[in-house]
Amino acid sequence: MAKKYSSKINKIRTFALSLIFIGFIIMYGGIFFREHPIVMTIFMLLGLLAIIGSTVVYFWIGMLSTKAVQVVCPNCGKPTKVLGRVDMCMYCNEPLTLDKGLEGKDFNEDYNKKGDARSK
Ligand SMILES: [Zn+2]
Repeated sequence: MAKKYSSKINKIRTFALSLIFIGFIIMYGGIFFREHPIVMTIFMLLGLLAIIGSTVVYFWIGMLSTKAVQVVCPNCGKPTKVLGRVDMCMYCNEPLTLDKGLEGKDFNEDYNKKGDARSK
């Protein structure tokens, strides 16, 4: 099965959004424990933590966005942001790289983890 790639910023955004939903689901779950105030409080706190966590992740995206390099996607012509050595266009998922040595190679997110893919 082919792995689906998407822009890192979009991925983190999806994660933050799902964290908010998880937080609300956990808090909603607490309602079923009305007879046990302690359990309900724990559920509410966990839900609150997930929502606070997502706020932190949103802040983190903001920080990452300022560090990301803005480029114009050669495929769709829209300005997008590249995080790390390789990333995908936020609009059309075109693989983009800032490293000339990786140009023309098959897209592989592992290039972000390796020190220098060219020395291989
Ligand atoms: Zn594009």
